[in-house]
Amino acid sequence: MKASRFHLITLKETPVDAEIVSHQLMLRAGLIRRLSSGIYSWMPLGLRILRKVETIVREEMNRSGAMELLMPSVQPAELWQESGRWDQFGPELLRFHDRHQRDCCLGPTHEEVIADIFRRDIKSYKQLPVNFYQIQTKFRDEIRPRFGVMRSREFIMKDAYSFHVDQQSLQQTYELMYQTYSNIFDRFGLAYRSVNADSGSIGGNTSHEFHVLADSGEDAIAFSDQSDYAANVEMASATPQETRREESLAIMETIDTPNLRTIHELVGTLDTDIRKCLKTLIVESEEDGLVALVLRGDHELNPLKAEKLAGVSCPLRFADKDKIKLQLDSDIGSLGPVNIGIPTYVDSSAAKVSDFICGANTNDKHLINVNWGRDCDEPVAVDIRNVVNGDPSPDGNGKLKILRGIEVGHIFQLGQRYSEAMQATVLDENGKSVVTTMGCYGIGVTRVVAAAIEQNNDDSGIYWPTALAPFQLVICPLNYNKSPQVKEKADQLYNQCLQASIDVLLDDRPLRPGVMFSDMELIGVPHRIVLSERGLKAEQFEYKGRRDETSQDLALQDLSEFLKKLFPEACETIA
Ligand code: ATP
Ligand code: MG
Repeated sequence: MKASRFHLITLKETPVDAEIVSHQLMLRAGLIRRLSSGIYSWMPLGLRILRKVETIVREEMNRSGAMELLMPSVQPAELWQESGRWDQFGPELLRFHDRHQRDCCLGPTHEEVIADIFRRDIKSYKQLPVNFYQIQTKFRDEIRPRFGVMRSREFIMKDAYSFHVDQQSLQQTYELMYQTYSNIFDRFGLAYRSVNADSGSIGGNTSHEFHVLADSGEDAIAFSDQSDYAANVEMASATPQETRREESLAIMETIDTPNLRTIHELVGTLDTDIRKCLKTLIVESEEDGLVALVLRGDHELNPLKAEKLAGVSCPLRFADKDKIKLQLDSDIGSLGPVNIGIPTYVDSSAAKVSDFICGANTNDKHLINVNWGRDCDEPVAVDIRNVVNGDPSPDGNGKLKILRGIEVGHIFQLGQRYSEAMQATVLDENGKSVVTTMGCYGIGVTRVVAAAIEQNNDDSGIYWPTALAPFQLVICPLNYNKSPQVKEKADQLYNQCLQASIDVLLDDRPLRPGVMFSDMELIGVPHRIVLSERGLKAEQFEYKGRRDETSQDLALQDLSEFLKKLFPEACETIA
């Protein structure tokens, strides 16, 4: 490709409405253009990257034996009514009707459509297992579309759905998909981790997320520093760092704490350790009552853990402040476990604290030197908090470290959630009809591009792993349009690269070298070769890798060998 003929539009200024670096760089490098909230066009340069992501995904999915198909975006409501999701799905599902007043939606995912295809076409256990996939545009009317294509409303997903006669067969395909995802992310050249995940609202039991590691990631993931344990913080079980509770001799006292409502106000004013302050959160019970959840001041409640407790509403609902005032006779900032009079769960770490501080269940009063078993009941100790740095790893090996990641892939064992509702059945060996068991496997293809940038950028712009780069090599001839020698050599090299199937860009624009170089650094081309009149006279070319500190002058006669080394796969045909 010649730069003069390519739609290459870069911006110097950082767009003000782009909050994270990948979004800023995608706009500055001209990869995407915004059409409206959460909806973007992929410009020619961006599309080249997207296609590379898709190609790797497609090759590895095909290698795994999965079959590609393409399902429609527009889906009839009937299918969604059959699965029960027409009512369950919230406003993320974009609904509309056609000219005949038939309800439709834009597919946020395709379990219903694939189950429908399956039940029409597949009748016998002998045809199983099967795994169908597509690379297709999804629409989810996200409440807060943000960060460009990272969380957009319209995006491209690779989604795969497998069908099985039994759990054992599902497990096999699940493991194969796990391996396939690992191959895909290895080939992208990105730093990633797979983690045990909560399967959220889709249902089913086992699921793993694949995260690209980046400081700006939305998800917190917990890793052991000594084993390969890795889980989403939402899922990681917390073990107290303290093994026992200290003895206490201090006497419980009530103190006045006017206007001290938050833990931080309390810690600041009383000049105490936040780990000695317990906070009490009030949630709804299953039946209209209230339940208290007590945690250490420095810990965060994990709603997914809490909603699994007996008697607690699921999904978790925090109690309204008027209801709390009415039933407990105190405002939110003055609550505590002593004589609270409602069922109370205490996080295991909070249960290990002695001489603690908590609300007195009377406005503007707190209790100090409180002790479990003496001043209030022995706690019902449960795990309801998020893990933190330094917690023991749940597998017993090492300590947890929390890192941030961007979820780019997700594999689930769906079980029979959809196949049951939609009657995706087959006949087994005895001619008996059995409901199939399903797995589903997604990769956020468009999000991968943003995540790759989030992980690989510096002050000059993006640096692509070679596998994803829009161009692998740029030839920058100085004075291409003025110097016949430079033009001749540049054209010759360009043609040689094209023949060798190297993704090459010839920057033939009449630009000053500095401007040309900074453009190429911004868009992140991994390799740059500069040809100049002076260099040619000395029989030299200049090379710089995108991440190299300095460039090097190399002998022209070694150029072919040099290219072969840089692009061993592409270069078989280089003479
Ligand atoms: P999230 O928790 O980020 O909303 P999800 O659990 O809703 O993701 P899945 O339904 O598992 O996502 O979809 C599979 C993949 O599609 C995700 O791993 C993610 O990479 C991608 N994805 C989901 N929602 C979006 C979005 N709004 N914009 C871009 N990519 C998305
Ligand atoms: Mg989502």
